[in-house]
Amino acid sequence: MPRPRHDFRPRPEQMALWPTISGNAVNGLGERAPRRASPIYWHEPDRTPHGPLQRWFYENSFGDPQIAAARAERQAILDSALAPVAPEPAVLDAEQWTAGIKAAALAGGADIVGITEMRPEWVFEGFEVGQRWIVMLGVAHDYARIRTAPEPQAGAEVIRQYGRGNQAAKAVASWIRERGHDAHPHGGPMAGPVVLIPPAIACGFGELGKHGSIIHRRLGSSFRLAAVLTDVPLLADAPDRFGADAFCARCRVCSDACPPDAILPDKQWVRGEFKWYVDFDRCLPYFNEHMGCAICIAVCPWSRPGIADNLVAKMARRFGAAPDAAAADRAPGRD
Ligand code: SF4
Ligand code: SF4
Repeated sequence: MPRPRHDFRPRPEQMALWPTISGNAVNGLGERAPRRASPIYWHEPDRTPHGPLQRWFYENSFGDPQIAAARAERQAILDSALAPVAPEPAVLDAEQWTAGIKAAALAGGADIVGITEMRPEWVFEGFEVGQRWIVMLGVAHDYARIRTAPEPQAGAEVIRQYGRGNQAAKAVASWIRERGHDAHPHGGPMAGPVVLIPPAIACGFGELGKHGSIIHRRLGSSFRLAAVLTDVPLLADAPDRFGADAFCARCRVCSDACPPDAILPDKQWVRGEFKWYVDFDRCLPYFNEHMGCAICIAVCPWSRPGIADNLVAKMARRFGAAPDAAAADRAPGRD
């Protein structure tokens, strides 16, 4: 993996598009009161202050053949048809729906699947979600490809996995619709109505890492998310806390590796939550000029194949069954 340099200077033509508002202000950095997330990136570019930068990212990466091939592959999946809702609604209980949906997710290409009840605070400002349940899907990167970040091969791998996430989400939604109930798939990179990381944490995918991505107990941070919204009766999974948060408190591999020094060393208040945070204004220019970057998830020790099991065991030895008790750090004034 090429060693990052920390003397990155964004290209002037990119910075000429920078809006007057900081992305950190849009994200609610420093805000102690809860509120919904505001759309910032991967939404309709005409509706967000950073939209011109989002367009620039696409244009900047047009010429690379690996990126172009991965985008074509993903577009074919996005264009594929979703099954119509069958006229006769099946009558299944929550156990049957849950088992069927999880099997359909794995058969459709997901590597992990979890279910949780939707919460209003996960819906982006300006959007509405009426469904009661969200089915979360995770698709793993090919580590040999993602570890080349920030080379185009890693960017293409991210695009390819977004395609696979969309494919799995469509498979699950189609499975539900073929049984006479509505379901709405969603996969990246374009954001839908829901912020995906909070429900992924709630359904047991893992803990938020210092690099702003989830750390899963088996996949580390080397995976992408997709989701399906539905009203069929389901059973919720529990969150999974195994000590990743406490591990991050003593680790700085990602922050040392981040070329623009965007990964903050300490937790911050963000819209009423005290959590790890990546400086949007520092990350985005590098991200935009390096095919989506992904260095931080590639270097995270949890992402290396064969390592996560050992780290889970190590954290269990250190903190027993209650990693929360050791938690990294507490919100000021909360102890
Ligand atoms: S590299 Fe270290 S600090 Fe960063 S997310 Fe991974 S474990 Fe946490
Ligand atoms: S994606 Fe952003 S935060 Fe992560 S290493 Fe790259 S620039 Fe840093």
